[in-house]
Amino acid sequence: MSNKTLIIGAGGVASVAAHKCAQNSEIFPEFMIASRTLAKCDAIKADIEKRMGKNLKSVITTAKVDADSIDELVALINSYKPSIVMHLALPYQDLTIMQACIKTGVAYLDTANYEPLDTAKFEYKEQWALDGQFKKAGITGILGSGFDPGVTGVWTAYALKHHFNEIHYIDILDCNGGDHGYPFATNFNPEINIREVAANGRYWENGKWIETKPMEIHRQRHFEEVGEKDMYLLYHEELESLVKHIPHLKRIRFFMTFGQSYLMHLKCLENVGMTSIEPINFNGVDIVPIQFLAKVLPDPSTLGPRTKGKTHIGIVFRGLGKDNKPKKYYLYNICDHEVCYKEVGSQAISYTTGVPAMIGASMYLKGLWNKAGVYNVEQFDPDPFMEMLNKWGLPWHEDFDPELVD
Ligand code: NDP
Repeated sequence: MSNKTLIIGAGGVASVAAHKCAQNSEIFPEFMIASRTLAKCDAIKADIEKRMGKNLKSVITTAKVDADSIDELVALINSYKPSIVMHLALPYQDLTIMQACIKTGVAYLDTANYEPLDTAKFEYKEQWALDGQFKKAGITGILGSGFDPGVTGVWTAYALKHHFNEIHYIDILDCNGGDHGYPFATNFNPEINIREVAANGRYWENGKWIETKPMEIHRQRHFEEVGEKDMYLLYHEELESLVKHIPHLKRIRFFMTFGQSYLMHLKCLENVGMTSIEPINFNGVDIVPIQFLAKVLPDPSTLGPRTKGKTHIGIVFRGLGKDNKPKKYYLYNICDHEVCYKEVGSQAISYTTGVPAMIGASMYLKGLWNKAGVYNVEQFDPDPFMEMLNKWGLPWHEDFDPELVD
């Protein structure tokens, strides 16, 4: 196995992952950053060189690739010969990159499940369907190694391994207490973000999915180091895999906090049709309103220097403890936007995704998570990943008497 890694994408998440790979040169002695816009890859490389100076031990190269093209991907993989591809571009490219990995016999990792460009839906079906081909090729596919999904799946596996005989209730709480000073901006790719929050909510209870209107279910909660926040029930992709992989589950929900200004702008944009993914003809050119909107909004990668405050992401678990008595347990991480920016030049949303991507690839390269097939992170041993979270900038905390979500 070569010890080279290929990172695809050069946005906020890829940039953090690349910085973290460079800091962890023992596992990542050589890596390439390849994306649609070569200049962005070169800028990340230059920033790493500037920050790390003589401490930089990894050999970093860059390349241009269109990840929508399996042929281009195969040619790049065959010429660079990495042992793993970290796909940190967009969910639209999941299947082409997975196909290229099958053709070249190289491991695959991503942070978001597949979404077709022309339908606002995301699910694991197409990626799980490649399990047989990954097994046949003898390669590992690690799905969803960001924060949510990613750390949330690892935490669930950890809670089950060390604290519960049965987990019955899971509430994933994603709070961003950061303030970038703009009336409206998204913290990661605007198109993906708006598609996610404008969709109907959904949660799983007693064996079936229950659909809600967007933002219909609302709770208030106090988040340590952030304060009182309004949070709303959303559908989120790890619900699908955790329902499949965690036995005895009775209910699983996902809540995300939003400020009133964000919600008011989103409603207005929706009302005027700007969040639509249906192409419209404008002066003879077909444009997709949400893609145009993404272009006029602030680029998430520019929010870093302006963002103050913290993220607080946690999971409340309830079930039967190792002694078979009722138990509740809260695992959480708090991350400071300004501290992240100082370290790697990105705000906490990219940081909390890029660090677990680097850790997931390390799990593979260390030979700890390398069975053939396509897996979600909760299907692997969580312990070495948990250890690396503490070491690489995302320490986790525990509360054995947390407030429950009604
Ligand atoms: P950005 O929009 O900042 O970056 C996306 C990058 O992908 C850009 O560099 C873009 O290129 C590149 N790209 C897009 N299309 C192609 C293509 N066809 N070929 C090659 N490169 C392409 O996104 P983020 O960094 O914020 O997010 C990256 C991924 O992480 C997304 O899939 C997102 O859903 C996921 N994510 C996951 C989270 C989690 O917790 N699991 C949280 C946040 C994000 P160009 O520069 O030319 O536009």
